[in-house]
Amino acid sequence: MTEPLPVTPSFRLDGKRALVTGAGRGIGLAAAAALAEAGAHVTLVARSKDEIAAAASEIGKRGGKANAAPLDVTDIEAVRTFVAKAEPFDILVNNAGSNRPAFMVDVTVEDFDAIFKLNVRSAYFVAQAVVKRLVEAKKPGSIIHISSQMGHVGGPRRTVYCASKAAIEGLTKAMAVELGPHGIRVNALAPTFIETPMTRPFLQDENFKRSVLDKIKLGRLGQVEDLMGAIVFLASDASALMTGASLLVDGGWTAE
Ligand code: NAP
Repeated sequence: MTEPLPVTPSFRLDGKRALVTGAGRGIGLAAAAALAEAGAHVTLVARSKDEIAAAASEIGKRGGKANAAPLDVTDIEAVRTFVAKAEPFDILVNNAGSNRPAFMVDVTVEDFDAIFKLNVRSAYFVAQAVVKRLVEAKKPGSIIHISSQMGHVGGPRRTVYCASKAAIEGLTKAMAVELGPHGIRVNALAPTFIETPMTRPFLQDENFKRSVLDKIKLGRLGQVEDLMGAIVFLASDASALMTGASLLVDGGWTAE
């Protein structure tokens, strides 16, 4: 052997502080559990106080460190106040998001505004608040935007949702360009259909479910566990040279 044997950079997050928005259920809850399991202290944010309190307590029972912080992320002033008062977060999982599937001809201005308000406007200003604290403290960080495969491809009844997630893909790249010199990495995670409280009602429609399964090459719907490794990877030193990327966890949907 002529060179020292390389050592895999650590996937551990001990001593890191993570903020997860929309952490009460679905993908956000899985992200919080994964980050806590990897050793981070996780702050869980959502509007439903009881859900995040129960999740934080469950993480504690498993030996993790977590606290619940009830917050409506569409209230930008409240977000700013909350993040400014907290110790800087090394990791942000910008996950709170929603969808109102509808044919384009039926979309109302109210639908459009509600989706953009949460998926884009809130995501932007939560990230801004977290980044501001990191830059002030001269600390590196990892920002993970929960995008979607729908930020890469189109889908029926999803014009507004696809536009909102494509905005997140653009935001990821521009943030990466601007924040690289500060040691702050910014990546997107782009899942296919994952069974969560958001998608369960859509997937009850058998025709829709079949159309989804036809496109997922691995032949099954995603489960939140399918994203947990990717979240820890993006948060940790294991992805130290990755920024401005979008990590597709889509069962092969976009391969065709
Ligand atoms: P979900 O099951 O509906 O959970 C959404 C979470 O966000 C809940 O904890 C909800 O809690 C919180 N939330 C909603 N509005 C909020 C607000 N104004 N302030 C704070 N928290 C808020 O959704 P999900 O399926 O896990 O999706 C999570 C993210 O993944 C979204 O960005 C979604 O677009 C993306 N995604 C999902 C899939 C999928 O197939 N599930 C695929 C690709 C991407 P409260 O209502 O209590 O506030």
